[in-house]
Amino acid sequence: MAYIEGNKEKGCIFCQKPQADKDTENYILYRSTWVYVLMNKYPYNNGHLMIAPYRHVPSLRDLREDELAELARVLRKCEIVLEEVFHPAGFNIGINLGKAAGAGFAEHIHVHIVPRYQGDTNFMAVIGETKTIPELLTSTYQKLLSYFK
Ligand SMILES: [Zn+2]
Repeated sequence: MAYIEGNKEKGCIFCQKPQADKDTENYILYRSTWVYVLMNKYPYNNGHLMIAPYRHVPSLRDLREDELAELARVLRKCEIVLEEVFHPAGFNIGINLGKAAGAGFAEHIHVHIVPRYQGDTNFMAVIGETKTIPELLTSTYQKLLSYFK
């Protein structure tokens, strides 16, 4: 239900969230000059992060060199923080470019960082129990926030 309701959000969440000045409510963990890091509200796994530029652009070719360089540096920071906090066995890092590739918000590029743990393939157990998600997200947010700082 939470997932279905979430899809009804109007407009571009990757533009709205950083402008809202509610970083805790929006699970924004880190802001740099051109990009920011937020937690996915519907995580595939514990610690599922996303990096997005502030600018509303759909693909890598639209990013300036400084945005692209910063995106890579922040991606590295996410890897380091997630390793320190959760000690995952691996990561899936990727971008869904276009609706056909599975992008929920195809108009605003964002990178997914999904930590992987041994035996975590049944991710439905994580997203299925919707009542546990708010607490899980909040505690994960606070834990990660201290490391990003
Ligand atoms: Zn946008």
